[in-house]
Amino acid sequence: MPVINMESAWNNIERVGYLDIEIDPALDIFQEIERLKKEKNAIILAHYYQEPDIQDVADYIGDSLGLAQQAEKTTADMIVFAGVHFMAETAKILNPTKKVLLPDLKAGCSLADSAPADLFSAFKKQHPDHIVISYINCSAEIKALSDIICTSGNAEKIIESVPVDQPIIFAPDKNLGAFLNKKTGRNMVLWNGACMVHEIFSLEKITRLKVRHPNAKLIAHPECEDPLLRIADFIGSTTQLLKYTQQDNANEYIVATETGILHQMQKASPEKTFIPAPPDNSCACNDCPHMKLNTLEKLYLCMKYEKPEILMDENLRLAAKKPIDRMLEISRAAGLVG
Ligand code: SF4
Repeated sequence: MPVINMESAWNNIERVGYLDIEIDPALDIFQEIERLKKEKNAIILAHYYQEPDIQDVADYIGDSLGLAQQAEKTTADMIVFAGVHFMAETAKILNPTKKVLLPDLKAGCSLADSAPADLFSAFKKQHPDHIVISYINCSAEIKALSDIICTSGNAEKIIESVPVDQPIIFAPDKNLGAFLNKKTGRNMVLWNGACMVHEIFSLEKITRLKVRHPNAKLIAHPECEDPLLRIADFIGSTTQLLKYTQQDNANEYIVATETGILHQMQKASPEKTFIPAPPDNSCACNDCPHMKLNTLEKLYLCMKYEKPEILMDENLRLAAKKPIDRMLEISRAAGLVG
């Protein structure tokens, strides 16, 4: 039940993750958000996995690489990050003087959670000659223990920038790491983490779908498991999947990643059909429960009251920034500009 009392909403923010305040049902939230953007010189950065209403009010929609690049270059005073916690943290790491807001503090990530900093630090000590390349889906503490950050859009270029005789630890996603080992011919040591959304696709249901839609192409994110990637027609980051569906001449696609991206795919190619790849449970599509904790109402409230805010210890921020800067430099040199 939403509360009206401001003081108790304020006090409860850590426990519930957001400002639990009732909104006047007659309020035009879309219009109010636009007004607040101007009043507060705010920018809304949204991940492709956000609900369609949030994507529609965003100033920029992208995947992790694009969002990090936008966060780095924005001149706004306030960044409202419609995504999960590690993404908002990344924006704060790059913008210490700006106010970074996350509509729901509890929007976490199973992949980031699969790499606790103390265990990872011990693992790193077991491989003293290795450098660490970490996927951006990790906490600020793991970033601080890394040499270079990567995203699924630039990972190959990042790995190729490292001399071939330099041993590498890749964290935290073992599926993406295995895929990259195959693509680059490296033998990176992999941390045993995974994303609950990309691991749960049902190969059996997808195979049946392919029989029912013989002309549909299967497109997949590299966080998916190897057996699924083996039967995919195209593998790429969320942005690469979106571009592929715009440039390719097929009319039907089975999409093996979080379903939020289907909104942009359908907008960009209204004449094509996009079928969410089914997970191995009773649902027909695969939503990230963390991403979907953000709602338009929570986004509006966090803009209005400027809470919840991402705050970070300065030493941690500086240590986590180094490997992100390295990633952005390599990406720019490779022409992967956002
Ligand atoms: S889709 Fe997976 S990797 Fe992305 S936020 Fe959700 S749990 Fe994390």
